[in-house]
Parts: sequence; C-alpha cells; structure tokens
Amino acid sequence: MIGMRTKPCPTVIVTRFAPSPTGLLHLGHAYAAMFARHAGKRFLLRLEDIDTARCRPEYEVAILEDLEWLGLDFERPVLRQSTRMGAYRDALAVLEAPGLLYPCFCTRKAIAEEIARSVEAPHGPDGPIYPGTCRSLSGEERVRRMANGEVYALRLDAAKAAREAGDLFFNEKGAGPHGETGRIAVQPLLFGDVVLARKEMPAAYHLAVVVDDAFQGVTLVTRGNDLFAASHVQRLLQALLGLSATDYAHHRLVLDEHGRKFSKRDRAVTLRALRESGVTPEEIRTRLSP
Ligand code: GLU
Repeated sequence: MIGMRTKPCPTVIVTRFAPSPTGLLHLGHAYAAMFARHAGKRFLLRLEDIDTARCRPEYEVAILEDLEWLGLDFERPVLRQSTRMGAYRDALAVLEAPGLLYPCFCTRKAIAEEIARSVEAPHGPDGPIYPGTCRSLSGEERVRRMANGEVYALRLDAAKAAREAGDLFFNEKGAGPHGETGRIAVQPLLFGDVVLARKEMPAAYHLAVVVDDAFQGVTLVTRGNDLFAASHVQRLLQALLGLSATDYAHHRLVLDEHGRKFSKRDRAVTLRALRESGVTPEEIRTRLSP
C-alpha cells in the first residue's frame, strides 16, 4: 500500500570465536571469546585446525570445556576447518579461473636468500613481502616443474586481484592498533602475493577464514587488533569470491605483567590452571572486564 512504512529487517549480528586447537586457552583467548559472545546475538565456534601437525584432539575437548565453564554458550555443531577442504578447493577454483593465482615452487630458504640479495625488500605486517619470483614463470616452465613432481603453493597475484576488485572498504566497528575505525580503504598490496594454498593442503589462513565466515553466516568478525591488517586481504578475498562483506570489530589485547601477549606455553595463565587453583569464572570475567 502506498505510504505504508516498511520496517527495515534488523540484521541479527552473528559472531564467532575461532581458536586453533594447538594449546590450552589462556586469558587472552577468554577475553576474545567473551568479546565475541557479547558483540553478537548468535555466537558460533570454529576450530581452526588445518595445521594438523600442531593441532591435538585433547585441546579441542579442552576448548569446549573451558568455554562452557566460562558460561559462553556457543551454537552447535562446531565447525572444524579440517572438514572443509572441498569448500576451500572450490574457492581456489573461482580465483584460478580469471588467472588470479599462480603456483609458487620457492622454498622458505630460497625466498630468504632472494630477499637478502635485493637492495630494498618491501615489508608487510608479517615481515618481508614475497619478492614475486614465481609470478613471472612461463606457462611451459610451470607445467615442466609440476610434471617433475615439484611441490608448490598457490599465491594470489595481488596486483591483478586489486585491478579486478577495484576500490574496496571495510567497516571497522572497534579499533585497529593505531585507533583505526569506521570506513577503512582496503590496501590490497599490504601483504603482497599471499599464499592461499599451502604446499601440503588446498588452504591457508586467509582463504579458510573468509570461506568459513561466509559459510557460517558470520556478520561481525571480532578478534584481537594484532590481526587488524589481515582484514585488508580478507575483504579483498570476499570481493573476489563474490561473498558478502563482514563487519569487523578489533579489540585490545590482554597482556601479561611484562606487557607481552600470553603464550600457550605458559601454563600458569591457562584457564585450566586458573580453574584448578580455585579461580571462578566470575573472577575471570571481572579481571578481564574493560
Ligand atoms: N584462528 C585465529 C587465531 O587463533 C583467529 C581467526 C581470525 O579471526 O582470523 O588467531
């Protein structure tokens, strides 16, 4: 009817906590999980266990128990990235079709040597940027090396991807490490040609996060501000894969008394140890409140 107001459909905010089961949860994780729980109406859990050499089933069990002990009611089923290789392969195929990926045969050692040789190696948030050695290999060379059984990773051709995607922005509802907030212009070249599939598996961190956030219907990605820069690559991948943009809320890091991030190796700050020493979930919540 003309003149009738339609109410905009309120978007249910869906958040997730996405730890890797490579150790026991510590106070830093507890803060991240509480932050995600409180920021979302629906709260999901994802186990980022693609690195099978470092992940352990006993840590998975401990993560679920510790979150329940803290009173954080995540939805089930819990998504495990190790079950999602087919979806990552499909996403790689989408990027491969317009030629946005290339095989990289370089070893870590070869990359380090190449960087050491160059006069001005550009740096990204994780250190020196891949110098692009394999980007310029000819088609025949690639085929020959693959036929020889050389293992290879798949890298994103970031410059080509940037041209394909055009100008992009992401919406920061929290703050980055330097107070960045609001509408942030994506810097597609920040990390250079990132690895999207490792030599031993059809996935790597950025690809798996983007594919799974979309699959799980996550609308707000919350995480520590040490991962703020990752949002540039992840927003780019969302655009290239035709996935909806998520919002972001990066939060402060909980640091130890020396101002350092907690380490999974320091058992004293694990939720397990605190619980065994008689600390209550309520005390943890108070200690971690902003
Ligand atoms: N698995 C990542 C971590 O433990 C977090 C995932 C993400 O939000 O990017 O740091």
